[in-house]
Amino acid sequence: MGNPPATEQGSTVTAGRGARRGLVFVLSSPSGAGKTTITRALLEGDSGLSMSVSVTTRPPREGEVDGRDYCFIDGPAFERLVAEDALLEHARVFDHRYGTPRAPVEAALAEGHDMVFDIDWQGAQQVRARLPDDFVSVFILPPSMTELHDRLRRRAKDSEKVVIARMAKAVDEVSHYDEYDYVIVNDDLARAVASVRAILAAERLRRTRQHWLRSFVDGLLGTR
Ligand code: 5GP
Repeated sequence: MGNPPATEQGSTVTAGRGARRGLVFVLSSPSGAGKTTITRALLEGDSGLSMSVSVTTRPPREGEVDGRDYCFIDGPAFERLVAEDALLEHARVFDHRYGTPRAPVEAALAEGHDMVFDIDWQGAQQVRARLPDDFVSVFILPPSMTELHDRLRRRAKDSEKVVIARMAKAVDEVSHYDEYDYVIVNDDLARAVASVRAILAAERLRRTRQHWLRSFVDGLLGTR
């Protein structure tokens, strides 16, 4: 009886018992460490979680859909968003610009809806600075750099030159693991997904996010 029903933990709860602000769930890793697969698994069957869709000046890869994977925009349009302070964070990665639109995030958090962000360490630092109370971050490490290289090559959507650039960026990315709240080594996908789910479940129950608790406990104790 003491806890909200399990379904409430993942759903949009806006009033009364169970009401809380949404959280910002940042997942970072080098490209190829399995972050996209883990994120997809996390979103499946969790109606209280949605993905933040970034804007980028990078051209779409085969199979990517505008508005679903990214909003693909040109340099001047990106500059306009920066000038209007419409981005929660933005960074340059591999000669392209990436940014998180601010308005959808603010609306989701206010409605008690959680959002997952696939952004790099530069973006994670900026979001933590802007939304420190809502912020939870997870870094996903590959089991080895050889394994990462193999995964990038197997993906084969990128040329060998791009794979080399991504490996260099991976080394830089990994060096920031200690700025994250949680770190997972993805040597077993099912276990990595279970770990990320467990982190999200626990963070949803954090006392400081559950603003409804005070009045609930007052009611329990008959002090109101
Ligand atoms: P990709 O081009 O492979 O989709 O992404 C390259 C890198 O950019 C990944 O590490 C990804 O996490 C990061 N990224 C994607 N969107 C954003 C964003 O909106 N902001 C920041 N800072 N990084 C992003």
